[in-house]
Amino acid sequence: MKQDIKSMTLYEITQAFAELGEPKFRAKQVFVWLHKGVTSFDEMTNLSKPLREKLDSIYTITAPKIVRKQVSKLDGTIKYLWQLHDGNCVESVVMQYHHGNTICISSEVGCPMGCKFCASTLGGLVRRLEPSELLDQVMFAQIDSGMPISNIVLMGIGEPLDNFENVMRFLELVNSPDGLNIGMRHISLSTCGLVDKIRILAEKKLQLTLSVSLHSPDDESRSKIMPVNKRWPVDELLAACRDYYEITGRRVSFEYTMIDGVSDSEEQARMLAKKLSGMGAHVNMIPLNTVEETGLKTSSRQSIAKFQKILEDNGITATVRRTLGSDIDASCGQLRRKYQKTQEGE
Ligand code: SAH
Repeated sequence: MKQDIKSMTLYEITQAFAELGEPKFRAKQVFVWLHKGVTSFDEMTNLSKPLREKLDSIYTITAPKIVRKQVSKLDGTIKYLWQLHDGNCVESVVMQYHHGNTICISSEVGCPMGCKFCASTLGGLVRRLEPSELLDQVMFAQIDSGMPISNIVLMGIGEPLDNFENVMRFLELVNSPDGLNIGMRHISLSTCGLVDKIRILAEKKLQLTLSVSLHSPDDESRSKIMPVNKRWPVDELLAACRDYYEITGRRVSFEYTMIDGVSDSEEQARMLAKKLSGMGAHVNMIPLNTVEETGLKTSSRQSIAKFQKILEDNGITATVRRTLGSDIDASCGQLRRKYQKTQEGE
């Protein structure tokens, strides 16, 4: 089997090229081409033909196909459904914010975590994405849309910390000065709360923003909607977040989905404020996006406003997430799900 060259770091390509008798600067030339988004060695015009042929016999260059592209008429949000080399599909969303264009990328095909409100996990985990496949989402969305991408959020399909090694390698690649050169401070990683991995991540002291999907401050209701809570209950998770803040100096951000009758009571708002105090936490409230299969409903506007006020009165900053791309199924896993259904129906 040919090796996936885009998942290799510049250092690794340099080492491999040394064994082929190729100088260091060649490795860098190839790395730069790869990160510009070329899809074949033949496009690397400053390499000799024999070398291009030799590389082609050893390595593959990944390139996903766009199978669906939807552009929101409301706000210009673009959603891509990519088909990978093995036929699996994942999605990414490009959003325009005042601070720059942001892409939300997927980390896995499907998801093993089983959150009750989420469309991505309905079929379980199919497989984890390779570093190159994470990078391709950023690179090819930028090339196709013509929009320079300055920020990345790992909030698409999948649980990034369940694909830890590949995600770490992706971060190194996308951060590379010879590649896309996107700074860690422009990257957010969202997790449902894998405490062991949060602790390992903290030790790496990366400057990225850790976002934790909390969705409820009490074990009883959190366990109902997020099976991961049975393994790592709320207090253990929050202890890891406090340590993360202390070790990295970076504030943790919390996602909180407002689900009618499950996570939106005033008592829960007070409990949440209490549990998050003193760690500079920011709460990102998300009105639930209805996923047909789940039977869960979003909270009323009044409960959302009330909840936010209680948090703020108790010294916790909270914002309600603006909905972008609501006309194009832009939330997590919805497009892939719809596409799967049409394929099954055919
Ligand atoms: N697995 C990671 C990242 C992917 S999900 C995580 O759990 O954080 C990105 C965010 O969208 C998470 O906070 C997730 O809980 C939330 N989410 C998933 N389905 C949703 C829905 N139907 N409505 C609102 N938010 C949802």
